[in-house]
Amino acid sequence: MKTITYNLKEKGTDYYEDIRKFSSEVSDYFSKNFDSSYSEFVNYIITNKIEPVRTFEEYVYDFLSAGVYLNIYSSYSNHSSNSLLQLQKSLYQLRRKNKSLKLYIDPLRGIISTAFLYNKKENKKITTPLKEFSKLILWLEAAGEFREETKRFEIIYNFLKNGEQNYAGNFISSIKKSGSWFETESIKQLGNYTRGVNDFIKELHKKYRWKENYIFTGRERIEYHLSLVGAELMNNGFKRNFHETKTKALLVPACMRFKRDDECKATANNFDMQCTGCSHECRVNHLTKLGKEKNFSVHIIPHSSDFTTWLKTWAVGTNVGVIGVACPLNLITGGLELKSLDIPAQCVMLDYCGCSNHWDEKGFPTELNEAELLKILEDKN
Ligand code: SF4
Repeated sequence: MKTITYNLKEKGTDYYEDIRKFSSEVSDYFSKNFDSSYSEFVNYIITNKIEPVRTFEEYVYDFLSAGVYLNIYSSYSNHSSNSLLQLQKSLYQLRRKNKSLKLYIDPLRGIISTAFLYNKKENKKITTPLKEFSKLILWLEAAGEFREETKRFEIIYNFLKNGEQNYAGNFISSIKKSGSWFETESIKQLGNYTRGVNDFIKELHKKYRWKENYIFTGRERIEYHLSLVGAELMNNGFKRNFHETKTKALLVPACMRFKRDDECKATANNFDMQCTGCSHECRVNHLTKLGKEKNFSVHIIPHSSDFTTWLKTWAVGTNVGVIGVACPLNLITGGLELKSLDIPAQCVMLDYCGCSNHWDEKGFPTELNEAELLKILEDKN
C-alpha cells in the first residue's frame, strides 16, 4: 500500500477518535453561530413543504459545504461563461443518461474543464452575494462532481432568494466564514491524514490535464476534510433509521478486490457483482464471509456511476439499510443520494485510495476499517 492522497492509517494516530472529536466541534460551532438562521431555515422548509425536516447535523453539512465551496470555487465560477457552463452541464447529463456516449463526451468535457472551467483563479467580483452563489451552483453542476450537493444548495439559494437582500448577504458571508474557520481547524485536527494531497496536486495533477477527471483529481485538502467530517455527521444523523431496517447490505467499490477486473471471478448481476471467493487474500471475500456471520449481504459496485441504478432497482422501498464504502471524494454524493431516495444509510470511508480509474496506473487493493464497520452494524445508540 502507498499513500497517494490520504491515509486514515497513519502511524501513531487514531483517526476515528480524531474525527469524532472534530465533528463534534463543528456541530458546536454551528450551534453557537447559526442558531437563529437555522431556525429560520427550518421554518422555511416546513412552511413551504420543501422536504421532511432533516437532522441538525445534515443541515450543518449543507451550510458548511456551501461555505467551503464558495471559498474554493467562486474564483473559478465568477468569471466562467454561462453558456459554456450550460454546455458542460448538458454534456454531463447526456453522459449520465447514455453510457455509450462516454467515449465521445468525456474527452470533450476534459477539454472544456481544463481550458475554461478550471484553468485560472480570478478575483472577479459579482454584483451580489446571491448572484455569486447562483453562479457557483451552475459551475458545480457543470463540473459534474457535485450532483447531490448542488440540489442541497438550490434549497439554500431559494430560501435566501425569498428574503431580504441584506439577509442573504449576511447569511452567505457567515457560511463563508464558517468555511474559513473549518479550513484552519481541519488542517490542525485532520491534517495528519491528508498530507499526500498537496504533493499529489503539485507533482502529479498536471498528468490529468485534458481528462474528464481533471477537476475530480485536483480537489483540495480541505475538501477531503469536509468529506471526512460530512461522513461522520451523516452517520450520526441517519443512525436511528438505519437500525430500524430489516436487512443490511454492504456496497463495496471494485477497487477493494485483490485481483484485477479480468481475473476476478465475481459474478455479474444487472448492476452489481457478487464475490465467488476465488482468492483467500481478497478483502471482499473476507467481508462476504463476515456478512454471512453478521447477517449482511455484500455487493461489489463496479463504478460509482452504477450506484444510482443499483439503488433504484434494488434498494428503494425494500426496508434495507445500506452501508456505502467509498473514498472521501465519492462518499458524500452517495450518502446524499441515498438520503434523497429515502434509503436509510451509513457509511465507512476507505482507509486510502488506490483505484486504477483515477489514482494509480495499475491500481492496488483498498481496504476499510473492519472494527468501524462492526461498530456501525451494532451501535444502536
Ligand atoms: S475473492 Fe471475490 S471479489 Fe475477490 S477477486 Fe475473487 S471473486 Fe473477485
